[in-house]
Amino acid sequence: MDLGLRDKVAVITGGTVGIGLAVAEGLAAEGVNLVLVGRNGERGDREAARVAEAHGVIVSAVAADVATAQGCEAVIAAAKRGFGGVDILINNAGTGSNETIQEADDAKWQYYWDLHVMAAVRLARGLVPGMKARGRGVVLHNASICAVQPLWYEPIYNTTKAALMMFSKTLANEVVGDNIRVNTINPGLILTPDWIKTAKQIAGEDGWEAHLQGVADEAGGMKRFATPEELAHFFVFMCSDKASYSTGSTYFVDGGWLKTV
Ligand code: NDP
Repeated sequence: MDLGLRDKVAVITGGTVGIGLAVAEGLAAEGVNLVLVGRNGERGDREAARVAEAHGVIVSAVAADVATAQGCEAVIAAAKRGFGGVDILINNAGTGSNETIQEADDAKWQYYWDLHVMAAVRLARGLVPGMKARGRGVVLHNASICAVQPLWYEPIYNTTKAALMMFSKTLANEVVGDNIRVNTINPGLILTPDWIKTAKQIAGEDGWEAHLQGVADEAGGMKRFATPEELAHFFVFMCSDKASYSTGSTYFVDGGWLKTV
């Protein structure tokens, strides 16, 4: 199936490893040119060169911290300089937290607010006008199942991801008349290198797989992690015109972990 994405341009925050990199690979395979964003410039440059070589597309890397206004400005400037704007914005950069509400200070709340919410606000302000000028666009927000089904050990993550979902809905309403579709995807358990690293720290070289299986068993549903590629297929579809009637929604890709309808 030709998804009609060839020669489009996408910015992917957190596009240098894990889910974001799998989405980058999926879009590159469809002929999309990319701007990959991460703080670690060395990794970004390496992955950009690899994806470009593998798929014959143009890929640039921007070393920037999207939790800051300056970092977002750098991303916007690079997208305009390199491609004159973008067709697709994927707000994916993010990370888990670990705290109780009683212990966490204001600075921690502020950091996650800036990373999970303000990055999306700032990048929309900078890149959506260019989409309007092109007459089309797609914005995807990678939140989490935790936006609606909180994990007890990360209240800041749960809260800021829920806010991102509401931002997505609100932006969708604002640009629905401009042929720009805005949606949220809420993944469940996705087996990224970070999950494996943490599991090895907790359970060691011999026990990490059993540890992760325990996490999946507790979640229920399919009782397994998805690969980043499994999730990336859904992102790629949502970027394409095959999803042309979908906007202002949240889609769960969680193997049945969500306990509500
Ligand atoms: P990884 O930790 O594997 O990758 C995170 C990516 O974001 C990296 O490219 C990282 O690069 C980048 N990043 C992190 N902080 C910043 C920052 N301040 N500025 C710019 N880039 C940043 O994460 P995952 O692939 O697991 O997760 C991606 C998204 O998916 C996150 O938003 C996460 O909350 C969400 N998610 C993940 C799930 C999972 O099971 N893995 C489940 C549900 C949601 P660098 O470190 O170089 O900055």
